[in-house]
Amino acid sequence: MKMNNTDQWLYTSQNESRGYIQPQSLDELWFHTGTNCNLRCPFCLEGSKPGDNRIEFLTLTESQKFIDEALLLGVKKFSFTGGEPFVNPEFISILTAALAHRPCLVLTNATEPLMNQMGAILPLLKQPNPLSFRVSLDHPDPIKHDESRGKGNFRKALDTLGRLYQAGFGVSIARHMLPGEDSAAVDQAYAPYFETAGVPADLTIIKFPEFHLPGSLPQVTEITEGCMTRYLSAERRAAFMCNFSKMIVKINGQCGVYACTLVDDVAAYDLGDTLHKAMQQRVMLGHHRCYSCFAGGASCSEGVEKK
Ligand code: SF4
Repeated sequence: MKMNNTDQWLYTSQNESRGYIQPQSLDELWFHTGTNCNLRCPFCLEGSKPGDNRIEFLTLTESQKFIDEALLLGVKKFSFTGGEPFVNPEFISILTAALAHRPCLVLTNATEPLMNQMGAILPLLKQPNPLSFRVSLDHPDPIKHDESRGKGNFRKALDTLGRLYQAGFGVSIARHMLPGEDSAAVDQAYAPYFETAGVPADLTIIKFPEFHLPGSLPQVTEITEGCMTRYLSAERRAAFMCNFSKMIVKINGQCGVYACTLVDDVAAYDLGDTLHKAMQQRVMLGHHRCYSCFAGGASCSEGVEKK
């Protein structure tokens, strides 16, 4: 669904009231650092690749404005995704500004852009708030990982994961989830690699279903207002990212506040130029990725530590 008119935003194709989330709090604020990435993974839900500019580099000045506003709204955590955040020339400064106030999480491929800046990253341990990294290790088979990410990149990412952990940072990994997989068995298959890297055997593993490329329009079941109360408990509805988080995205030179991390390819999910405005708005669940949240509880969040 392109959601490019009011009727499509509010109603399903069968003219039923579309399911929605009325945001309750801003616990976590995400920043999209830009779709420029040193890698070119064919499955990337952001379509990121070297030189890509669909979502532009955020600057420190732009980020600081939203950090300040988020603090007024009681934010508990700042998180960063790309692209590869460490490709953004101002990223270390942005991260330093955020760490002055709240715990931070960075999603990274943990290859050269991060490795080359380790000398600037290690001093961030002295910041007043903890910093964690979520490293992409798509499969527990280095050959499969490297098919999309390039030869040798599983090993680089694993080594960097271990190095970050040994230095004192929090770490987790993200992996792909395949339809019908035995999730416990796939998670367990990482154990020898975790041991090699010297990270805990019970490391948090975030699993992502197929999200398709930006602009894709796969057919999914539409979510009606009735579905949200008939099939989901209040607790399940509260766990939707759009209920407790937002993401800052810069497109065409303008920063917008998007409903969550998964919908930046549809302009209707730009909810305004301030967090205050965005938090007032109902988020209509018409993006195909909303169905992953509804059916499988998909989420980029690792939860929020209380400060
Ligand atoms: S993708 Fe999920 S979190 Fe994002 S707007 Fe849709 S339901 Fe909400």
